Amino acid sequence: MTPLYEGKAKRMWATDNPDTLRMEFKDEATAFDGKKKAQFENKGRLNNAISTLIYGMLEKEGIPTHFVRQIDETNVEVKKVEILMVEVIVRNLAAGSFSKRTGIEEGHVFTQPVIEFSYKSDALGDPLINDDYIREMNLATPGELAHLRKSAFKVNEILSAFFAKCGLKLVDFKLEFGRLACDPSVIVLADEISPDGCRLWDLKTGEKMDKDRFRRDLGNVMEAYEEVLGRVRENLA
Ligand code: ADP
Ligand code: UDP
Repeated sequence: MTPLYEGKAKRMWATDNPDTLRMEFKDEATAFDGKKKAQFENKGRLNNAISTLIYGMLEKEGIPTHFVRQIDETNVEVKKVEILMVEVIVRNLAAGSFSKRTGIEEGHVFTQPVIEFSYKSDALGDPLINDDYIREMNLATPGELAHLRKSAFKVNEILSAFFAKCGLKLVDFKLEFGRLACDPSVIVLADEISPDGCRLWDLKTGEKMDKDRFRRDLGNVMEAYEEVLGRVRENLA
């Protein structure tokens, strides 16, 4: 069997149901547009477990997602969507590319969350775009864009409050949305929410508990992911 799609961190497989896919989390980690690569035992399992718990919580909070069910340790069944080629990034504190672009130091707290969009294109390095680009590139309709903005801020409120309970500061994160294959008028949150696509800092120590441990060679990458999973589990129970 060959997957329908193999990405940097996941494989997408067909299922018996034409409206759903099997999403398999791999142990590979990449950073800097795939230029830095490594394999981490258990990464697939940890991200699947964290993402499954987070999506379950978001659904309960009224956010429609692609999540259907967890199949096993590294696989979930998801509703098939046509992914909007826009990555939606929400930031509560300055970090990463925001700090690089602006010179504003990491850890600066924003007065209000900052939203940004990037064009989902590996070949172009996911460039920063704005509403006008999205319109002219036909990446989303104005109605869809308004929905992305509203949902992303709502997800930020829910996740920031939840991670705070876990003793973690949600610094920033990336979301992907898609149109349901069975009804393209419906947009749902897709892909994953895990320490691969979120910055999480320990509230007490300031320690980084996310993929920056890999990007910046800080060590103990999977130990941090395991700790995040433990805290998420504890605080959902
Ligand atoms: P990348 O493509 O960036 O290397 P991944 O390795 O995470 O990313 O691959 C997963 C791919 O599947 C991504 O392109 C993502 O947009 C896409 N995807 C996520 N959820 C769904 C879904 N429910 N239906 C269809 N495609 C999805
Ligand atoms: N992010 C992501 N995928 C991307 C780009 C960013 O998951 O292709 C996440 C990243 O993990 C961080 C947030 O989005 O939590 C903001 O990332 P930033 O723009 O600072 O990029 P970086 O410099 O980390 O690549």
